Amino acid sequence: MEDTVQLEDLRVNGERLRQSLEEMARIGATPGGGVQRLALSDEDKRARDLLVEWLAELELEVTIDAMGNIFGRRAGRGDDLAPVMSGSHLDSQPRGGRFDGVLGVMGMLEVMRTLRDHEVETRRPVAIADWTNEEGSRFSPAMVASGVWAGALDLRWACDRGDVDGKKLGEELERIGYRGDVPCQKFPVHAYYEYHIEQGPRLGREGKLIGVPEGIVCLHWYDVYLKGEANQVGPTPMEGRHDALCAAAEMILAVEALPREMGGNLVATVGEIQNQPNSRNVIPGEVHFTVDIRSWEDDLAGRAWGVLEKEFRAVAERRGCPVEIEETWRVGHSSFDPTLVRRVQEIADALDYPSLKMVSGAGHDASYVNQVCPAAMIFVPSIGGRSHVEVEDTTWEDCEAGANVLLHCVLESAAEG
Ligand SMILES: [Zn+2]
Repeated sequence: MEDTVQLEDLRVNGERLRQSLEEMARIGATPGGGVQRLALSDEDKRARDLLVEWLAELELEVTIDAMGNIFGRRAGRGDDLAPVMSGSHLDSQPRGGRFDGVLGVMGMLEVMRTLRDHEVETRRPVAIADWTNEEGSRFSPAMVASGVWAGALDLRWACDRGDVDGKKLGEELERIGYRGDVPCQKFPVHAYYEYHIEQGPRLGREGKLIGVPEGIVCLHWYDVYLKGEANQVGPTPMEGRHDALCAAAEMILAVEALPREMGGNLVATVGEIQNQPNSRNVIPGEVHFTVDIRSWEDDLAGRAWGVLEKEFRAVAERRGCPVEIEETWRVGHSSFDPTLVRRVQEIADALDYPSLKMVSGAGHDASYVNQVCPAAMIFVPSIGGRSHVEVEDTTWEDCEAGANVLLHCVLESAAEG
């Protein structure tokens, strides 16, 4: 293609994007129409192998770092300039959806293929990224590998994170052959875009096609461990019991009630619980549950936790069930780069896609990457606002539209000196 070809007329191939998404969705497909591709599982390995194969077909320079992050770099005219990067993740939640994360990786792959089809030469190099263990459901916390890359989390600590079977993240990286030889550390990036489904209902409700997040809420994760007194349920009278599950139940309802009391844009959730011995005729002796608090305002989230912690200790005291609380993870709210956010908006306008400014309630690797270089995100609607479940869905037309926005964001940033 000659340089005279109008770059602004360039569009991705929506049908090819659909095919790559469908091919990826076959890896770890679940009967309910979703996927289960837990981080560093055999399914994750197969998805990675396929991605690497596709990157090799494009003759990209592929590197894998010590956290298993996969990068594919396409040379630019000014090859010593920092690249423009975009990506997301291939891992999923247990019985998760076919679009969360993988859309951002397949979207950028489609951008790369479009650049190749039209022999587009960019000034800056362009790179694609697949971040390891974004979900954090097998190995806590989430976004751990972009966190190490950004220098916010420690590599050894990250590799030592265990799953429920006691398998370590580092060993599993090794087992599937993705502990790369390149150090996991930030490198200069000119701009980072992450293309993702919205995972919420706003775009659909307001009839908009492109979400333009101004940033990501803060995330606070806690682990709560309660000790009760296990005993036979029949002969043990109700008075004087120390039932760890009942104590947990009170605490969980306190978590649910808190955002209503505090107002603001706070959300608080208990999503995981383990009860021991989990037998119908034994009084629960040990309970572990998680707390997830999010808000655009870090202070509000901090104050909310202060209230909850006091409440938890009061419940534990009253019920005679000692409690231990761990702060597992805390990442502050992340405001994206205003110039890149404006660019996403302007490109959506130029392509005639109705757009909506918003805040991301979900965490994304862009949050950590934003600590290293200017970052922004592009959202497309999740049908019914459903995500992290098998019925998660987005129309193929919307997938294509978002990829077109990404294409032009990448082209504009890659043309900059
Ligand atoms: Zn995601």
